[in-house]
Amino acid sequence: MDFSEFSAIEDKLKKELDTARYRHTLGVAHTAVCLAMKYGYDINKAYLTGLLHDCAKAYKSKEQVSLAEKFGLEVSEAEKAHPQILHAKTGAYIAKNTYGIKDEDVLNAIRYHTTGKPGMNLLEKIIYVADYIEPNRTVMSRLDVIRKTAFEDLDAALLMILEDTVSYLNTKSPDNVDEMTEKTYEYYLKERT
Ligand code: FE
Ligand code: FE
Repeated sequence: MDFSEFSAIEDKLKKELDTARYRHTLGVAHTAVCLAMKYGYDINKAYLTGLLHDCAKAYKSKEQVSLAEKFGLEVSEAEKAHPQILHAKTGAYIAKNTYGIKDEDVLNAIRYHTTGKPGMNLLEKIIYVADYIEPNRTVMSRLDVIRKTAFEDLDAALLMILEDTVSYLNTKSPDNVDEMTEKTYEYYLKERT
């Protein structure tokens, strides 16, 4: 797949997503390409994954559980309580079945883009980080530092994002932290120290 073939996907996403989400989608795709250039990854695959990472966001939070059940995907209690995290799982399904993506790396990077997972591969890291630092993101504390770090030391940026995500979710309510996010944070914290 090359850039000319992405037009059809872009057109479809533009129709399905709201303006802000579509802008974010392009932001992630372009940022993922930049990170792929820096760290030596296939730029077309990075762009494609960035484009599709939020494809299930066309469905509202409330619809995510029934959508997942319809697709025959397992839904945990935590996911039932916080259905917004399900869009990663339903997104991987839609990418495969609606957009015809067969590449497991692409599908996994979509699948884990909200929670991360221990032992992420390069594409998974690129998408996870790009999702957080893309230009349309509302500026949070030290986002400028994280953006700079992402192009110097990807794992360091990854850990900073996990740290900020866990502490942000904790301030809202401790049970807001998904188990997988927690596991990912602990994994990367241990790896760095
Ligand atoms: Fe997302
Ligand atoms: Fe996103």
